[in-house]
Amino acid sequence: MTRPRLTIVIAAFDEARALPRLQPRLAAVLDGLDADGIDAGVLYVDDGSGDGTWEAMEVIAAADARVSLLRLSRNFGKEVALTAGLDQVTDGAAMILDADGQDPPELIPQFVARWREGYDDVHGTRVSRAGESWAKKATAHAFYRVIQRLAKTPVPADTGDYRLLSPRALDALRQIRERHRFMKGLFGWIGFNRIAIPYERHARIAGRSKFGFWRLWNFAIDGVTSFSTAPLRLATYVGLATACAAFVFALWVVGKAMLYGDAVAGWPTMMAVILFLGSVQLVALGVIGEYLGRLYEESKRRPLYLVRDWRSSRHPGPEGLH
Ligand code: UDP
Ligand code: MG
Repeated sequence: MTRPRLTIVIAAFDEARALPRLQPRLAAVLDGLDADGIDAGVLYVDDGSGDGTWEAMEVIAAADARVSLLRLSRNFGKEVALTAGLDQVTDGAAMILDADGQDPPELIPQFVARWREGYDDVHGTRVSRAGESWAKKATAHAFYRVIQRLAKTPVPADTGDYRLLSPRALDALRQIRERHRFMKGLFGWIGFNRIAIPYERHARIAGRSKFGFWRLWNFAIDGVTSFSTAPLRLATYVGLATACAAFVFALWVVGKAMLYGDAVAGWPTMMAVILFLGSVQLVALGVIGEYLGRLYEESKRRPLYLVRDWRSSRHPGPEGLH
């Protein structure tokens, strides 16, 4: 009888200090899963780190045959690094985990139990987050509320990438090759049986967060533009509203000139109107530009990532370009 397989996929960018601390905890979890009849392993993805993360990974893999390694040719960002890892899991389920210990690996057996009950997408939902600033918590809170209203498919609140995907969910995800990968949205898009597991998010075990304000802001724009065209429609409505206001204003100006004559005056009003309309147009152009830029990026059809190195005794491995 073949045992069900599980691969824990971990994207790491400059996590040389965190990985050696995470690995013993993971090894204990793998032992437990093994005792429960599950053939579990780990796949680390080095997302172009420059701090010796790959060397740390090699040490870990040399000591444990259940560990596989994938190294990308440069830093492609977390979403693509995860995609590269998930692409290699062609047999069994996959579990996504952060390298910094913020998602406690000790909970993995709970996720696996849900999968064995028949769920395809078991996702961790944070009931609290330790070690993060109030600004990050507040903006994250606002972001989830906005994206939930805009996206047509579910994006559960306070849910990161800590989740387990069944083989058929993985297969579905593999078919999505879009470039601006807003994973939280893609997981909801594929559907199937979904269930949340509440958990407490810990502070980082070492190193610092790679997602500063600007990166999160751009991430949010990616999320909105990948899953909604509402900003384009908003531009149309703002245009219509200003056109109506301009019409009323024009009637008033012309009427006033006919009744009381037309002494040259009104420079402040004219400037105000010109500046206002100019900025509305620029904003609308910017919104169109965002979507056009994405279209351009997609149309180039470059591979999503390039593989530099690969070590594994559990997986067949990548063939060339992706
Ligand atoms: N990460 C990655 N590539 C990147 C940035 C981050 O693979 O370009 C990984 C990182 O090593 C970590 C995970 O993504 O395992 C989450 O990153 P981080 O902890 O910096 O984000 P935060 O938890 O602060 O949102
Ligand atoms: Mg983190």
